[in-house]
Amino acid sequence: MVKELTILGSTGSIGRQALDVADMHGIRITALTSNSRIDILENQVRQFSPEAVAVADEKKAKELKIKIADTGVKVLSGSGGVTECASMKTQCVLNSIVGIAGLGGTVAALEAGNGLALANKESLVAGGSHVTRIAREKGISILPVDSEHSAVFQSLAGCKDKKQIKKLILTASGGPFFGKTKKELENVTLEQALSHPNWAMGAKITVDSATMMNKGLEIIEAAWLFGIKSDKIDVVVHRQSVLHSAVQFVDNSVIGQLGVADMRIPIQYALTYPDRAESPVRELDLTEYMTLTFEKPDYDAFPCISYCKQAFERGGLAPAFINGANEKANELFRSGKIKFTDIPKAVENALTVCPVKNDCSLSDVYEADSLARQTTEKLFGL
Ligand code: NDP
Ligand code: MG
Repeated sequence: MVKELTILGSTGSIGRQALDVADMHGIRITALTSNSRIDILENQVRQFSPEAVAVADEKKAKELKIKIADTGVKVLSGSGGVTECASMKTQCVLNSIVGIAGLGGTVAALEAGNGLALANKESLVAGGSHVTRIAREKGISILPVDSEHSAVFQSLAGCKDKKQIKKLILTASGGPFFGKTKKELENVTLEQALSHPNWAMGAKITVDSATMMNKGLEIIEAAWLFGIKSDKIDVVVHRQSVLHSAVQFVDNSVIGQLGVADMRIPIQYALTYPDRAESPVRELDLTEYMTLTFEKPDYDAFPCISYCKQAFERGGLAPAFINGANEKANELFRSGKIKFTDIPKAVENALTVCPVKNDCSLSDVYEADSLARQTTEKLFGL
């Protein structure tokens, strides 16, 4: 089990659950970061006494500095402050920032030679080739926090040769709109999109789950994490969220990981790996579920899954571009400026207009992200 930990995005849904786990096991906190919610961060500073904190919003950072002056904790600011926290020497950096804003922290943690537990899937989607190259060069194995990827990782324990893997089976809850047709999705509201049946998560990923873009992003995330081609990654809708994902091997044996839907299990496994420890999560009682169901996704109503696969297969900047378009469209939907069904339109449009460039640097990735956001705003006349 890790003894010291930095959490990027500690004020969010994953960040707060990670602190729960750290608290239970007495893990020392090196640094914590947030974007702007300084009240939550102040409480965390007082409870966990980190060496430093960073607030991405410069003005809020100044406010926090005054609020916690009595603690002597160093307060950094801006995205530079966040990456500085990621670079501070520690055993493990858990990156739970949402969106491409997390890419800098992922890269900084790896370059500093820190271990990395990754919840921020957008880092791998947009910057997969860079992130995995740096990890390889530094000899660091990225530990997945995303529940499906943790399930695959756990199912692969003992598999020494990737050739023995036939396919990865990623499960999806289907979100709040499973069973609805494309037409019925036209008029769904933000409130409906935000009421996920099984998981309580941040707003962006909850909307991504409703469009099933989340599952598309997870295909790309899995392809980079496990070095598997996207055509060997299947998606199965499993409404109960009990089987968190599985691996089918060449002998057609399937190994999966089951548990109640609580992110503290995968968060904790990334911190205890390769060991296991008691967790604050309740036991799984299989008899509570009369039936476990498995169905094919409706690719017509939820086309984002296919767009993500296509973007990954195209390579280069395509995944960064569709990720940027989705982030922008997701944000526009949450602020009431576009309809739910405009989100897949934005992703499809991004796939059509995406610039072709194969040999790309990290700054190309950031440029593609900002171009994709502009393209999306233009698409809706904003
Ligand atoms: P939340 O929105 O709850 O939290 C996001 C965190 O990131 C907050 O601490 C927020 O700070 C910080 N943040 C936001 N924008 C910036 C920025 N520009 N710069 C620096 N920090 C920023 O998100 P979740 O915890 O739900 O998700 C985090 C990541 O984990 C996502 O990539 C998501 O896909 C992934 N994930 C989440 C799961 C879940 O159950 N929630 C499950 C699997 C994966 P502030 O609070 O100040 O706004
Ligand atoms: Mg997931």
